[in-house]
Amino acid sequence: QYKIPADVKKPRYVRVNTLKLDVETAVSELSKDNMVEKDDMIPDLLVLPPATDLHNHPLVTNGSVFMQGKASSMVAVALGPKPGWEVIDACAAPGNKTVHLAAVMKGEGKIIACELNKDRVKRLEHTTNLAGATNVEVLHENFLNLNPEDELYSKVRAILLDPSCSGSGTVADRLDYLLPSHSHTSSDGDGGDVGRLLKLAAFQEKALIHALSFPGVERVVYSTCSIHQIENEDVIKSVLPFAAFLGFHLATPFPQWARRGLPVVEGSQHLLRTDPVEDKEGFFIALFTRNATRSPESP
Ligand code: SAM
Repeated sequence: QYKIPADVKKPRYVRVNTLKLDVETAVSELSKDNMVEKDDMIPDLLVLPPATDLHNHPLVTNGSVFMQGKASSMVAVALGPKPGWEVIDACAAPGNKTVHLAAVMKGEGKIIACELNKDRVKRLEHTTNLAGATNVEVLHENFLNLNPEDELYSKVRAILLDPSCSGSGTVADRLDYLLPSHSHTSSDGDGGDVGRLLKLAAFQEKALIHALSFPGVERVVYSTCSIHQIENEDVIKSVLPFAAFLGFHLATPFPQWARRGLPVVEGSQHLLRTDPVEDKEGFFIALFTRNATRSPESP
């Protein structure tokens, strides 16, 4: 079983919530007490020294910046919804990526943020309020129960699917410090039990097939904070024929990023992995795209 060494020192990443604050102001505020650099890949992401404690910093507590790792911050950027689009965040709580999507969309358009767990819905609402993300509609529902043929979802152009996973690639250091309870996935973080991984993968596969089934959707991102092939490449491998049937293909998020998928599936060079030791967090991102099926005159 894979163990992340305890001495892996993560830089402290913060994402500027551009719905509330511009990057230059954030840099100048944070630079008063810290060394601050801009990340070379993710717009609006700042890098501070590992030990920096920002939990009580006013910019954090008022939602102007979010403490969010680099790999986690790649996900909404990989999906790349345009301002004005309609988007579903399928498994949304606690909402880090939901509010990042809202910032990428400049607060314009609509994000349907779907979450199954009632308590986590509250956390999602807290996050969206804190971020000032007014284009988010929180939906307490099982994503698998949303009907892709429903007129309600006919304008949805992008779906972010970040389902429950083993959490084996990371620790719970997201927004969770703002709230009383600390578990951020359904996992206990070990991720080592194959039976449990297969159970998670069965849901992940079903949810990905469901996301690909929305008729107007052009972009789907599937992401996990797991290092396990069962939850990552194997899920992609099993949905590829269905995806291809619907006109989707794998696209390459962040082509400049060297670490790609394990070579166990056709198109693994398009998949993105981050390494829990080298990159301090183990994440997986797959991006499916297809050409728009809507008429050219629609927005
Ligand atoms: N994207 C979130 C973020 O960045 O803050 C983290 C999502 S977490 C890994 C997965 C979430 O999916 C959990 O809150 C879990 O309760 C929710 N979930 C699990 N099954 C679901 C389903 N069938 N429909 C909707 N949400 C579900």
